Amino acid sequence: MLGITACVAERPPRLTRSRDSVYLALMELRKDPITRSWVITGDDISTPASETRCHFCPDSPDAPQVISTRPSLDGGAWSARAVVHPNPLYRIEGEPQRRGDGLYDRMRPVGAHEVLVENSRHDGHLWNASDPDIDEFLLLTALRILDLKRDRRFKYITVFKNHGAMAGQEFEHPTSQITASTFVPRRVLYELRAGREYFQQKERCVFCDIIAQEEQQALRVVEVRGEYVSLCPYAPRVPYETWIMPRIHEAFFERTAQRPGGTRDLSALLRRTLQRIRSVTEQFHLVVHTAPNTLHRSEILNYWKTIDDDYHWHIEILPLLPKTSKSYTFKEVYFTPVTSESAAARLREASPGG
Ligand SMILES: [Zn+2]
Ligand SMILES: [Zn+2]
Ligand SMILES: [Zn+2]
Repeated sequence: MLGITACVAERPPRLTRSRDSVYLALMELRKDPITRSWVITGDDISTPASETRCHFCPDSPDAPQVISTRPSLDGGAWSARAVVHPNPLYRIEGEPQRRGDGLYDRMRPVGAHEVLVENSRHDGHLWNASDPDIDEFLLLTALRILDLKRDRRFKYITVFKNHGAMAGQEFEHPTSQITASTFVPRRVLYELRAGREYFQQKERCVFCDIIAQEEQQALRVVEVRGEYVSLCPYAPRVPYETWIMPRIHEAFFERTAQRPGGTRDLSALLRRTLQRIRSVTEQFHLVVHTAPNTLHRSEILNYWKTIDDDYHWHIEILPLLPKTSKSYTFKEVYFTPVTSESAAARLREASPGG
């Protein structure tokens, strides 16, 4: 049985399928009645695909179906593009058909799953690409989020990147992935609830308050760059966990990214932060947390009423350290053998280029 918690569904593991029909028959979403989080489950009958040549390079003869392309900035093929995931976790067709199973809930894995090709160059990574190229990738990401949010069936759009074998990297070419799901992943749900409760009590955004205090204390801040800050969170889940946040309040990543010049400092800070993290480890998970689809008006969760004020988009980077992995794989309580103060100090010392 292949069990993926909704939290991990933000960064699905390597899954390859030879026959779509088999996949569809086996995969389903199930709700944990205790934690109320959805998991994707199914019996994994896959055999690893043998990759001969890159499907994502511009000259690939068997490129996946293209969904959207950003133009080239330097006369190349293109700068970034979104393609259909060759082995999607979610399928776009049909309705979720949510149904009971005794006390349990289940539904079909209806959704979308795309690969965001970050750069047309096979070695054009987010830590060595040009800032204008990273800008184009961020804009493409925003445009895909906006497009997928037009579909009222989808409650949440997740953007994530797994880099390194331990992180579950699927493709050699520099890629991120985007999924649209009929549920909100558990970690985001916790953030939305916490943000709303804090706002109800204080009429302030908890993320804005965190940024203000972190900048004032300057213990865990890695770098401030224009409208953005990167910092190690006070209570990290893994060593060197780093968040990148806009210093000006905004709930929706896609709104910021569409603003002219909205991501200029972000591209540089993302590049520099990944360079710093790579001085510690090459493997990491990265996830963008933005507000859910407000077109999808759930009756049970009425978090959208103050969402503009109480949620604050951000990027979370979770590095994976091989040597210390044992000490934090037991996830009942997160144990991190490096404090965020020491982590931020070490990351500040690393010298990113540019
Ligand atoms: Zn390639
Ligand atoms: Zn805020
Ligand atoms: Zn988050």
